[in-house]
Amino acid sequence: MSVRWGLIGASTIARQFMINAIRAQGDGEIAAVMSSSPERATAYARENNIPLAVSTLDALLGADIDAVYISTTNELHLEQALAAAKAGKHVLCEKPLALTSDDARTMVATAKAAGIVLGTNHHLRNAGAHRAMREAIAAGRIGKPIAARVFHAVYLPENLQGWRITKPEAGGGVVLDITVHDADTLRFVLGDDPIEVSAFTQSAGMAGSGLEDGAMCIWRFKSGVIAQSHEGFTTKFADTGFEVHGSEGSLIASNVMTQKPVGSVLLRTANGEEQLSFDREDLYARSLRQFHAAIRGDGQPSASGEDGIWSLAAAEAALQSASSGKAVKIDPKLGSKN
Ligand code: NDP
Repeated sequence: MSVRWGLIGASTIARQFMINAIRAQGDGEIAAVMSSSPERATAYARENNIPLAVSTLDALLGADIDAVYISTTNELHLEQALAAAKAGKHVLCEKPLALTSDDARTMVATAKAAGIVLGTNHHLRNAGAHRAMREAIAAGRIGKPIAARVFHAVYLPENLQGWRITKPEAGGGVVLDITVHDADTLRFVLGDDPIEVSAFTQSAGMAGSGLEDGAMCIWRFKSGVIAQSHEGFTTKFADTGFEVHGSEGSLIASNVMTQKPVGSVLLRTANGEEQLSFDREDLYARSLRQFHAAIRGDGQPSASGEDGIWSLAAAEAALQSASSGKAVKIDPKLGSKN
């Protein structure tokens, strides 16, 4: 039986990646799209071959669908996810799940009470490179992990230079946009949870309205590992990367903080250097495959609602640290699940 999807949001990410990812599933179908503008809904549906265009949440949730993919601006995720869960639809929601971790907790509790699957679209967990690093660490190939470094400062493409750099009320800023991914990726690769963060943010000339377009964070993990992450919208010529250094070796991944299945992972130990091989499956298609399996009762989405709470709590703590000038504890009440 196929999974019939309703898209909430006539967004760029759906057009560029998620529509294809849903259609790449043998059992995935896009039944409807909702935009707040009837004209945009109709145009988007026509351009993307979607049979039904609607402009209200009620109309979308009343359609014959099993699941929704939410990719509206961040302030809308909460209300839309709650309504979808209460209507019995499974929810795959973009990151950040909401504007606050309290709201994200409400989403997870509501999904649980409704008995639906809630996933967070942290695509990087689906990257072969990241999974290869996680497996190498879990297998002890670098010994005891000591420190990690994440390089995720990029140049925000011109077509995305909208609400992210102008609208605090929509959840703009680089921390809610990129630091959430880095916090999640560090948790996933290290198999560890961050407990404290210290952050500096900047406005380097692109973002306005008091929003930050650059951030550097220092994280402390439960195991004692320390990590640094750099997120940015304004660095045109920087590479991305992810390094984990352990007592017996280092993992050095290049060009892996991206939406595409590209990049490389080098393992360096006393025995020399080895390029790790990994699968090159589309990140979003894999995310969808796991989500469909979770709907059938087989496992969890690659990033669960709880993982979305964690990444948002971590980003929230980074923002608090940047404004207070102090290190901030990351709420440990959530329990460990990754
Ligand atoms: P967009 O700006 O493309 O879309 C967000 C909303 O903006 C849409 O829902 C739409 O509202 C409105 N919009 C889009 N185009 C126009 C337009 N021409 N005129 C007026 N309004 C318009 O955002 P993104 O696709 O970049 O991001 C959406 C969500 O996805 C965010 O939560 C973001 O954090 C997340 N994201 C996640 C990524 C990942 O890899 N996991 C990557 C990129 C984004 P309406 O629906 O009402 O038409």
